[in-house]
Amino acid sequence: MKEEKHAVQDIEIRETRRAPWWEMSLIFGTGLALFILYMVYYVPVMGGTPPKTNLLKSRNIVWRERFDEIGRQLDRCEDQLAQLEERDDRIYRSVYGMDEVPQGVRLAGLGGENRYDELLGTGVLDIVRRVDVLEKRVSIQSESFDEVEHLQRTAGDRAAHIPAIPPISTEPGTYHFSSPFGYRSDPFGGYSKMHTGMDLACHPGNPVYATGDGVVAKVEADPQKGYGLNVILDHGFGYQTRYAHLSRIDVVQGQKVNRGDCIGASGNSGRSSGPHLHYEVLYRKDFVNPAHYFDMSLSPEDYFTLVRKPEK
Ligand SMILES: [Zn+2]
Repeated sequence: MKEEKHAVQDIEIRETRRAPWWEMSLIFGTGLALFILYMVYYVPVMGGTPPKTNLLKSRNIVWRERFDEIGRQLDRCEDQLAQLEERDDRIYRSVYGMDEVPQGVRLAGLGGENRYDELLGTGVLDIVRRVDVLEKRVSIQSESFDEVEHLQRTAGDRAAHIPAIPPISTEPGTYHFSSPFGYRSDPFGGYSKMHTGMDLACHPGNPVYATGDGVVAKVEADPQKGYGLNVILDHGFGYQTRYAHLSRIDVVQGQKVNRGDCIGASGNSGRSSGPHLHYEVLYRKDFVNPAHYFDMSLSPEDYFTLVRKPEK
């Protein structure tokens, strides 16, 4: 009896496991119909989104947030760099009389735009472009700091370089102010003309002294031309001085001079209406009033402690 029951159960199990063919077709057909409905009706007609698209959309949101964060970081970097650049131009470079780095150079062209073509229309483009510009600005800023550092190491003491003493002796009776800096009527034409220096009338042969440490930038020895025999000293830190209408020049181009070294003697060479020293001070290539760079009330005793009289 027991064995018989077992046999019956086996048959029943075998029968329930094998689904009839129409049942299988029904399941398959329904699946296919649902799939077609989904692809043909739900996605294009109802405007539904396939799951893959949903996944991409949510990833997109994550990326957008990251881009926004990178954008904010770039904002901060750009701000900080702009402050460094300004401090460099306004303080460091200006202390040493260097010109500001032109904006055109700071934001110099980064080559053709076509390198970005493949990134057009993506949020990446903006970021790549900003990083490129930032990289370039950082490298220019770094070069500028190198320049400042080099100047700082080689220029020495600023106070010794800036023109600060009268170019001739302050002994009363040996000179007089014959023409100040600024517009005046031209002694030859009578019309109004800028006088780019200061005239100190004195006898020819009066020693002329360097008013600050520096290098002889130029010696012009044409006695016929405007300035006549003249010397230009470059003091660094943006300063230059010119000593004109000389009768004699005691220095050569490229020579290093210290404040108080005799560089020549006053005279009447060039376009001059009488013996005098024409003294110019330039700051960053602009003529400035020499009266602000010395004090003629300095006593002759004090003056002669500052200069080295020529031997003869
Ligand atoms: Zn003059």
